[in-house]
Amino acid sequence: MATNQHYDVVIVGAGVSGALIAKQLGAAGKSVLLLEAGEDGQLSNAESLERFYTAQAKVPESPYSPPIVTPDAAGIQSPSNPDEMTIGRATTLMLDEANWQKSDQAYMDQQGPLAFASTYERIGGGTGRHWLGTSFRLLPNDFKMKTVYDVEEDWPISYDDLEVWYGKAEHEIGVAANAADQGYHGITFAPGYNYPMPQIPDSLVDAAVEEGLSVLPPQEGIKLGVTNTPAARNSVPFQNRRQCAGNTNCIPICPIQAKWDPTVTLYEALQNPHVAILYKTVAKEILIGDDGNVSGISYLQYETLDGGATGNGTVSAERYIIAAHAIETPRLLLMSTNGGKLPNGAANSSLAVGKHLMDHPIYLSWAQTAEPVYGYRGPLSTAGIETMRDGTFRSEHAAFRIEIGNEGWNFPIGDPYTSTLDFVLGTNISQLNQTKKAHFGTGLVAGLNQALISQFRLGFLVEQTPEDYCAVSLSDTYKDKLGLPRPRITYDLSDYTKMGFVAAKKVSSNIYGAMGAEEFTTHPTAKEAAADPSSFSVTYDAGGKVVPEGTAGATTDHFRYFGAGHIVGTYRMGDDPKSSVVNWEQRSWDHKNMFLVGSGVFPTVATGNPTLTIAALALWAADIILADLE
Ligand SMILES: Cc1cc2nc3c(=O)[nH]c(=O)nc-3n(C[C@H](O)[C@H](O)[C@H](O)COP(=O)(O)OP(=O)(O)OC[C@H]3O[C@@H](n4cnc5c(N)ncnc54)[C@H](O)[C@@H]3O)c2cc1C
Ligand code: SF4
Repeated sequence: MATNQHYDVVIVGAGVSGALIAKQLGAAGKSVLLLEAGEDGQLSNAESLERFYTAQAKVPESPYSPPIVTPDAAGIQSPSNPDEMTIGRATTLMLDEANWQKSDQAYMDQQGPLAFASTYERIGGGTGRHWLGTSFRLLPNDFKMKTVYDVEEDWPISYDDLEVWYGKAEHEIGVAANAADQGYHGITFAPGYNYPMPQIPDSLVDAAVEEGLSVLPPQEGIKLGVTNTPAARNSVPFQNRRQCAGNTNCIPICPIQAKWDPTVTLYEALQNPHVAILYKTVAKEILIGDDGNVSGISYLQYETLDGGATGNGTVSAERYIIAAHAIETPRLLLMSTNGGKLPNGAANSSLAVGKHLMDHPIYLSWAQTAEPVYGYRGPLSTAGIETMRDGTFRSEHAAFRIEIGNEGWNFPIGDPYTSTLDFVLGTNISQLNQTKKAHFGTGLVAGLNQALISQFRLGFLVEQTPEDYCAVSLSDTYKDKLGLPRPRITYDLSDYTKMGFVAAKKVSSNIYGAMGAEEFTTHPTAKEAAADPSSFSVTYDAGGKVVPEGTAGATTDHFRYFGAGHIVGTYRMGDDPKSSVVNWEQRSWDHKNMFLVGSGVFPTVATGNPTLTIAALALWAADIILADLE
């Protein structure tokens, strides 16, 4: 396909949303061109694995391009300089106090007051290259928070509207679960509905938590229970891919692709002669014609990841889909000023583009069980506690789901490496080598075994409220090597969200108490919280109301939070063009032949990991676009 051809549809971004829509439209005989900023994600799979195996810092971005570290003249690996990167993206390496605002290390121009702690990928397949695969449906009440709890916003669609698309998405990406276990908090399935694969078995850690919960009294009036987690991971051979071998490496890369990732669907789409892709092609402006419709998309192309632009072009179509995720999509919209004709960018008559940036900030806690649970076997997580995703408490504080980790203390302290070094060197960073003795021989092996087989952690994914002050805009100071402004981020957490952390901490300690587990969670001191951009302090009274620090009788807690990678909300859907960017169809209010897809359309972050909902909405959008094109 030549690029000067006029297409039925042009899609910007070949991640979850872009790949799913391309496959559907191609199958219906429509000509589709994908513009993808990154390299071909699957052809470099072997290289990605090698890069991950040899990486010193094994963070989610380690396997993928552009490299997050680059050797200097002396061969020492240092964080890659975003000024020198053709297509930068955020990395978790930058999130500590020392680096988060250093422009030669951090791609995003973070203005605070808190750090936005989540990252994404810019490679064929997108962020789904390193996702975990957790595939939840949202709850009916997640769609109507304003109506039910008088907080946040209602969505313009309901669970019932989305139910059929959830089923299609589960079958398209291949989700393993048992419908009989997933019907909690009002979730319903079509009569006789089955997931395409049986569930992944629970781990021994899940069983230990479940046993503990059996003696735990209700929390805020809710009896907690363990539920198997639906996952886009093969429990049996499925769609020519192998079943999960259980080696706990799902983030950042499944070596055998038992976990679905978007390159699976993308490559299926590209088998179709109607679908084409341009890699290393960065959309830089959405062009708006005199009739208010999109008339084309202009792009830059490059050869090397640090070389700058080597070409450019414009492409046109009947329909345009922007699927570049919740930071790069608003960045592209805001860059699309059309020579000053649209000073606030494309699709932005509401001025809502970029606003309401959300995540599920994570409260992380960790403990050792009395009896061994043998983590590090099976996927990173196979079950969770979903019971506190909903309840009357949502009028007062944020809800959360609780992910049961199956990878020891890898997330909280970087184990097994940290404890191993403690035992070899005689240090005690892990708190497991209290004597600070260096061990060797059989003593080393026995000590480490004892320590590692009882470790587990809980991750509380806390609901964050949509706020104007959490926003993506364009940096007026920093650019990437293509000369495009880098994303600027302002970010903070509301009292409602912070009180979700307070509730999570209480529930967490109560769970460990009921299990007879020894908790090792550490919290920052007041001074550390004040200095750390990923920490906050919150003071509250006996009624759970946030009050000024120093109030008599009040309690102050200090928390460190982590990003979940659930980047949401920056081009929200709604019923009113004055306050939303797209309508329920995900169609731009301002430019009727353009659709904005992905989690940026979510009006609230809700209580489930977002990607199954992204996939369901993408399939729905494809259907709407097909009807449009008929
Ligand atoms: C560590 C981690 C674990 C996660 N685990 C889960 C999980 O278990 N469950 C879950 O539900 N979610 C999870 N997520 C979130 C999930 O990965 C995202 O929700 C999902 O990938 C978003 O899909 P998308 O298609 O909207 O965006 P992406 O997958 O990010 O795709 C966007 C694409 O657009 C391209 N692009 C960007 N800018 C441009 C441009 N200007 N021109 C052309 N192309 C462009 C990018 O290169 C990319 O390929 C996780 C995220 C992280 C970080
Ligand atoms: S546990 Fe291993 S095989 Fe299974 S999905 Fe995760 S990485 Fe792939």
